[in-house]
Amino acid sequence: MTATRSIGFIGLGTMGGPMAANLVRAGHRVTGYDLAAPAREQAAAQGVMIAVSAAEAVGDADVVLTMLPTGRHVLDSYGELTEAASGALFIDCSTIAVGDARVAADLARVAGHRAVDAPVSGGVAGAEAASLTFMVGADDTDFAEAEPVLAAMGRRVVHCGASGAGQAAKICNNMILGVSMIAVSEAFVLGESLGLSHQVLYDVASTASGQCWALTGNCPVPGPVPTSPANRDYAAGFAAALMAKDLGLAADAAAASAVPAELGRRASELFAAFAQDGAGGLDFSAIITTLRKDTA
Ligand code: NAD
Repeated sequence: MTATRSIGFIGLGTMGGPMAANLVRAGHRVTGYDLAAPAREQAAAQGVMIAVSAAEAVGDADVVLTMLPTGRHVLDSYGELTEAASGALFIDCSTIAVGDARVAADLARVAGHRAVDAPVSGGVAGAEAASLTFMVGADDTDFAEAEPVLAAMGRRVVHCGASGAGQAAKICNNMILGVSMIAVSEAFVLGESLGLSHQVLYDVASTASGQCWALTGNCPVPGPVPTSPANRDYAAGFAAALMAKDLGLAADAAAASAVPAELGRRASELFAAFAQDGAGGLDFSAIITTLRKDTA
């Protein structure tokens, strides 16, 4: 039986809303805050107590959870959440730069708190079904305390290392995913021009060395994988704009570490252009449509 915690939850949006609801379901006392009224109302309907400000939401909390859009939002929030009790455990689940995660953790520690970065994989469906994977950067003691809280919202909680290591694992994983989706898409486009049917290429590659999740879980052409977004006009799924964001973080981290990551950087450019072209809301596998145009 997990101990009941008093949790302040900042950012009740697409991901944070259902995550906070799962914490309520697990028996925790959750007080939330979001700048947007609809997000507050939806969370309230799920049993989240709504505060009038972020500071009020964390006033009684021994755990402070943030699920915000960018590193800037997280750093600004951490600077303002001085009301939290001394020693509170700050857990940031947003996807932000490794460097920002380390600065945020330092801000929390200087204010007398403890800090954990715990970005997620699994998207909205995972947030709703409490089946997310959490990639955690923390010391051993803070990880042990964060783990049962995170387990109420997910299926896997992986300790990746010290502060920032969760964000590092997240962007490395998504760099694999972005590059592999482009590789799979290019192979289908080439196959089309060589007269291969989608199904034949799928049947070969999915049981041969080309096998990967971009092919078998999220196939960018309709037909071979009935559940993939390609079968519903690329309705996301994992939005191209979020893939562009994550690849941008990976490309920045590579540049800062003097790692060439040539394919990762190219994937970042392609997804950024695709998202800026108005396709950011589509599933990221829709990138195949631009690759096809470019070869026409
Ligand atoms: P979202 O925009 O739906 O939600 C963010 C919420 O934060 C919004 O409701 C916004 O009003 C609120 N907010 C912003 N500034 C605030 C502040 N100062 N105080 C209180 N509330 C504030 O975004 P999302 O899709 O929930 O994503 C959140 C994070 O999770 C992002 O970092 C994203 O990259 C990451 N992520 C998203 C997905 C996904 O599929 N949506 C998957 C994995 C990771």
